[in-house]
Amino acid sequence: MPTTLFLDRALLPDGWASGVRLTIEGGMITARQSGQTPRTGEAREALGVPGLSNLHSHAFQRAMAGLAERRGPAADSFWTWREVMYRFLARLGPDDVEAIAAYAFADMLEAGFTAVAEFHYLHHSPDGSPYADVAELARRHLKAADDTGIGITLLPVFYAHATFGGEPPTPGQRRFINDPNRFARIVEALQNDRATVGVAPHSLRAATPDELQAILPLTTGPVHIHAAEQVKEVEDCLAWSGQRPVEWLLDHAGVDPRWCLIHATHLTRSETLRLARSGAVAGLCPITEANLGDGIFPASDYLAAAGAFGVGTDSNIAIDAAGELRQLEYAQRLSLRGRNLLSRTEGESTGRALLTDALKGGAQALGQRLGALAIDHRADVVCLDMNHPDMAGRGDDLALDTWIFSQGRAAISSVYAGGRRVVENGRHLGRSAINTRYSTVLRGLTA
Ligand SMILES: [Zn+2]
Repeated sequence: MPTTLFLDRALLPDGWASGVRLTIEGGMITARQSGQTPRTGEAREALGVPGLSNLHSHAFQRAMAGLAERRGPAADSFWTWREVMYRFLARLGPDDVEAIAAYAFADMLEAGFTAVAEFHYLHHSPDGSPYADVAELARRHLKAADDTGIGITLLPVFYAHATFGGEPPTPGQRRFINDPNRFARIVEALQNDRATVGVAPHSLRAATPDELQAILPLTTGPVHIHAAEQVKEVEDCLAWSGQRPVEWLLDHAGVDPRWCLIHATHLTRSETLRLARSGAVAGLCPITEANLGDGIFPASDYLAAAGAFGVGTDSNIAIDAAGELRQLEYAQRLSLRGRNLLSRTEGESTGRALLTDALKGGAQALGQRLGALAIDHRADVVCLDMNHPDMAGRGDDLALDTWIFSQGRAAISSVYAGGRRVVENGRHLGRSAINTRYSTVLRGLTA
């Protein structure tokens, strides 16, 4: 049975429109009309924009938010944070993983993300042996997505080595490790579930060139890889191959629009231009990158070269669609000492420009029809709270700028995911059960 959603104002692919009625069937938009008047009893919202895709998440890391914010004995860095992460995940079982994922996904929906690309590398039991079902933990993420309503592209991660040159993995990495054959079984199991599945070689540290060639053909879905997040990683890659990670990928891996390079923080000018021209998506995670002290992506140069990007929440330290876009712009302002650096033309709203680009890049990176209030796209709508005091007298682009630069998730009233209203008055409808389950897991982990 088709249902409808009426939006007084809506951001459509060609701009703002009034009186928009979306007809929704099977979770997808099957018809769209503008200039309509609402019908009695019809679901109605004041202002709707397409839901954003979160193109990079490690859901389980949500539960360690706040656990790595103390100064260590030596210089603290991404690498010391990673040690905390390895110790933490040694304790997680399948039920814990599912409860944490449900909590993170509900949080994403409340924060304006209606779909997620889960970069899933926690495959095996705590001692490193595979579960009876090799795809057990991946399936727990699909279950959490189904329960919360978020759209998902699952990216099983291929991880086999500690560093460049095929070095054996460390004990802390035992839950991630597969050879190409066992990895293929995980991918196949998920394809049988009819999930949208891509592949994610974890990084050039974790997969050799031969392994990369073996796993890329396993799906026709997106390919995601961590690249050039850390200066040390760039130096190690240079020592291994004579090339920088993004340079190596562009020269040897066939990077094209199917690809999403996560972080791509440390780029030369030539890499920046070549990545932009490749049609691949730069998967930026500005809040996590700030939290981990990674560095600043050259967004201003990259966008000037018409590069595609989307945003992700990565470690899930703080989940906020508007916050990621804001942090992306603010890092440019701080480093380049200017304002409104990621909009393109005089008078253009920076919030609108950031949202438009991230919707497009996010949908491309998830390999699904998302990110537009248009026919044959998933019916994902984020509705802003036009009764919020900060929204008084503001509409359209000004409402977007107020959401993105001022209020963040507090400005979101309702969220529809796959046509289902899953967030009401800023709160996910399954919140109390999800919270109870999550707090129990968290208490157990810190006991
Ligand atoms: Zn990541």
